[in-house]
Amino acid sequence: MRHALPAVSVLALMMACAPALAQQAPAIDAERMNQAVRVLASDEFEGRAPASPGEEKTVAWLVEQFRAAGAEGGGPDGAFVQVAHLSRTRQDGPATVAATVGGRTITLERGPDVLVSSDRPVNHITVTDAPVVFVGYGATAPERQWDDFKDVDVRGKVVVVLVNDPDFEAAESDAVAGKFDGQAMTFYGRWTYKFQEAGRRGAAGVLVVHETAGAGYPWSVLQNSSAAPKFDIVRADPDAERAPFQGWIQRARAEELFRAAGLDFAALKDSARKADFKPVVLPGLTMSVDFGQIADRVETKNVLARIPGAERPNETVIYGAHWDGYGVGTPNAQGDKIYNAAVDNATGVAALLELAHAFAEGPRPKRSVVFAAWSGEEAGLLGSTYYAANPVWPLETTVANINVDSLLPGTEIDPNVVVIGKGKNQLDDILARHATQTGRTLIADPAPQAGAFYRSDHFPLALKGVPALFPAAGFTGASAASRDYVQNRYHQPTDEWNDSWRMDAAAADVALIYAVGRDLADSDQWPEWNAGAEFGPAREASKSTRR
Ligand SMILES: [Zn+2]
Repeated sequence: MRHALPAVSVLALMMACAPALAQQAPAIDAERMNQAVRVLASDEFEGRAPASPGEEKTVAWLVEQFRAAGAEGGGPDGAFVQVAHLSRTRQDGPATVAATVGGRTITLERGPDVLVSSDRPVNHITVTDAPVVFVGYGATAPERQWDDFKDVDVRGKVVVVLVNDPDFEAAESDAVAGKFDGQAMTFYGRWTYKFQEAGRRGAAGVLVVHETAGAGYPWSVLQNSSAAPKFDIVRADPDAERAPFQGWIQRARAEELFRAAGLDFAALKDSARKADFKPVVLPGLTMSVDFGQIADRVETKNVLARIPGAERPNETVIYGAHWDGYGVGTPNAQGDKIYNAAVDNATGVAALLELAHAFAEGPRPKRSVVFAAWSGEEAGLLGSTYYAANPVWPLETTVANINVDSLLPGTEIDPNVVVIGKGKNQLDDILARHATQTGRTLIADPAPQAGAFYRSDHFPLALKGVPALFPAAGFTGASAASRDYVQNRYHQPTDEWNDSWRMDAAAADVALIYAVGRDLADSDQWPEWNAGAEFGPAREASKSTRR
């Protein structure tokens, strides 16, 4: 069943079932939201690339809108912006990657065989004759009683890891089956985690063995994007967090290295699906890597607005949405080269503005509410990662982080609300209660193998323990409209606004998350991660700061 509702009735319908809120909840204005998308996604904003003239226009416009909505600056010293300092590295010249075993040298070619880069802000990387150790899936997951590293010291060694989770290819009868959420990818399956964990442990380098099924995309996808600039936030001690080099190796070449060292890659891969797996050093084999890069810094801005809490201002509910898009790029067949990023994610930012209006016009919340328009999501969750490392408001007392990334235009309210990462924490229960009141039902991500929970801006804060809620409409393929969007518009110049757009359905979604945030902001509850969620231990560590 689908409902088609005129704009103004969306909240009225919700409130008919929620009399207590009805007196206080201001309406979400679908048409004002639509007009905000029109502006942000206009050619004048040039696709909103970070560190471009499009950024300046976007940031200035958003500050003006948040101010007009009645919010204060939510950045450092009451400013509306937080400058995020980024480290950028670009390939410079050729790379040599070679393994030596038993007096024989095996050369690997950057591109077809292996891809290497470095997040360290240096102009040259040299690793000489480092031992190589196979660490299975490279996962240390205490909440799942799993540790691939055991107590093996990998400092100074090149770590070779498998793609995806330990249970990705498990048979039903294997003990590991389901331990890492089955076909759904967990954080441990993401290459970002594997790079980070190897870096944290002092490895000389880390290579993920590429297999198309486990990665979810062919080698060509990695190879095609490998020459693009890489970004990281500026870190106080990058050497403590990032290995000298990181990258990927084709499975066939990994097999060859293992064979040359007298090992059977396939057999070792099988053994890595068992909890008692221990890292295996490739006997007599060493690896040397050498490449140049250009390292510099760039700045970009998060826009942060805030409604201070009346009773407990140090406790914060965050709503976040990334303002950035891909900017101006390769033209499509029609010659359009502006990636307007209307659905992804002018809609999310427009939602933030509506939420700011709603909180400013409603009764003053007991806790503070922060509206975070993040930069650099598309280049690797950079703005939100910067905030997670440099929080303006304490993360320990940040109650929840509600992420808005892509709302679809239309008038038909989908009776299903897709929740990315459904079941991970108690925020679902609050959302479910409000959804039920409007006849809607929560459903899980229809494509969990893509790991969407780890690919938007709630995630860097979740890593620090902040409970995250990510209701999504745009890229899940749950509805016909979302499938059309994914196939024909997502990350293309065709993700454009036009004057047939109506935002009634999106307004209903925004009203729903307004109700959730309002509940949290007026309560003293601290929603928790559910047992088994990757981020529970991080939250638990700061428990004493929350009453
Ligand atoms: Zn997005």
